[in-house]
Amino acid sequence: METTSNLREILSEIPLHVTLVAVSKTYSTDDIMTIYRFGHRVFGENKVQELVSKYEQLPKDIKWHFIGHLQSNKVKYIAPFVNLIHSVDSLSLLKEIDKQAKKCNRTVNVLLQVYIAKEETKFGLDEKELIALVETSDFLACENVRVCGLMGMATNSDNVTVIRNEFRSLSALFGKLKDTVFSKNECFTEISMGMSSDYVIAIEEGSSIVRIGSKIFGERNYSKS
Ligand SMILES: *Cc1c(COP(=O)(O)O)cnc(C)c1O
Repeated sequence: METTSNLREILSEIPLHVTLVAVSKTYSTDDIMTIYRFGHRVFGENKVQELVSKYEQLPKDIKWHFIGHLQSNKVKYIAPFVNLIHSVDSLSLLKEIDKQAKKCNRTVNVLLQVYIAKEETKFGLDEKELIALVETSDFLACENVRVCGLMGMATNSDNVTVIRNEFRSLSALFGKLKDTVFSKNECFTEISMGMSSDYVIAIEEGSSIVRIGSKIFGERNYSKS
């Protein structure tokens, strides 16, 4: 099966300490099961409805990562089972995750999404906003979320230097936060950066989680979804 050999090839390339999230958005549950049977358990989705539907149909030992823009009113649907939310970009969203996590007696793992690209379309906080957020009393009061690190998306570009510099800036910000505001937080360990086109650079720049879809499952057909 081609999907499995793609996965195997990527796994052989990336260091053991790097987590591979197989981004399964728009791909079928059969596609997911192909690499599930091979032993893969970490999958990523970017739409709440699609994630919930796949969660309901598929084995319960899958670790589901939410990687897309998350609306506060939809947090309640994924809070009971999600393993890691990569895309927290506001205090209000974080507070809603905390509230819903409390309701189901869980602690939900999250990453703070940082804006590193030169495109207006990408979501995320800039450094100032992020530092302001983590210094609020509301942030400190969120007992049912665990901030595990940062996530970022590089500019969609062929310019390797631009991409590398963006990843490098995210790594530097991570290091700075780890030495300061998160110095007592042992869970603050993850940098989620790198997709099919740029994960090699991301790993060179210190990524600990790569999010790879099309390089595993093939070209995406958005018209189906
Ligand atoms: C779709 C998506 C990916 C994976 O993209 P590929 O180019 O298919 O590897 C990674 N991260 C996010 C946030 C995505 O939405």
